[in-house]
Amino acid sequence: MTTIQKEHHIFAFANDMAPIASVKSGSEVVFETYDCYKDALKENTRDEFLKLQNINPATGPLAIAGAEPGDTLKVSILSIQVAEVGTMRIRPGAGVLKRCVEYPEVRKLKIKNGFVKLKEDLLLPVRPMIGVIGVAPAEGSVLTISPGSHGGNMDTQEIAAGAHVYLPVRIPGALLAMGDLHAAMGDGEVPICGVEVAGSVRVQVEVLKGQSFSVPVVENDEDFYVIASAETADEACEQATEQMFHFLRQRITGLSDNEIIMAMGISGDLRISQLVNPLKTAKYRMPKALFSLKF
Ligand code: CA
Ligand code: ZN
Repeated sequence: MTTIQKEHHIFAFANDMAPIASVKSGSEVVFETYDCYKDALKENTRDEFLKLQNINPATGPLAIAGAEPGDTLKVSILSIQVAEVGTMRIRPGAGVLKRCVEYPEVRKLKIKNGFVKLKEDLLLPVRPMIGVIGVAPAEGSVLTISPGSHGGNMDTQEIAAGAHVYLPVRIPGALLAMGDLHAAMGDGEVPICGVEVAGSVRVQVEVLKGQSFSVPVVENDEDFYVIASAETADEACEQATEQMFHFLRQRITGLSDNEIIMAMGISGDLRISQLVNPLKTAKYRMPKALFSLKF
């Protein structure tokens, strides 16, 4: 099996990046990853002048042979391993709770037996997820701190073991990279972090020829999520909802457009992934079983 070491990483998804390895469709691959601070943050309660560089290294990129523009890259997340210590960094003026943070702090948190230890007597459940996962854009480059239609820093907690991530292939080989694992993160990512952690991800990559959708889609046992990112939360919410409408319209026969909209109003959920990145990310959830949905 191919393993991509974390020393091979990018800080931008670019259309001209050079792959460090190439695999066939159907291959299993392990990506070893740094945390989003490139494993460089130490515990610190006087962090005011800390200048962060090298944010969100994403391991890769990996080329998948035969992937061409107009195809979809299906990334099945088989497992996520996280390190034994995670990091959270909060500071006044940053994040959704910018008015509430008392003082800047970097906290190291032990992760053990499925729990994150916030304090001696407070253990919170681990729910490992991938913050950054994406492919090369059609043109130019997008920093790994930003989400977009290529994927990137979507910070969507459903991108977890057992899920499939569908990414639109824009250049030959797709060029997949990932990083920014979280041992756990709630919707919104309100402090601009989850439990940031190094680790490794085992995936299976598969090229779906001639199948495409314009934004990332995530599937798990129960649901499909369509993911959209935009300058404002309002705009991201509208785009995610509209894209789900198109996703359903391509897949459901026997319902009028108005009936699809009503079905979304009855059974769908519009949710926030994150509100703290350069673009905001929303997701629209639709249960699979009701309409026998497939990608
Ligand atoms: Ca992130
Ligand atoms: Zn992160």
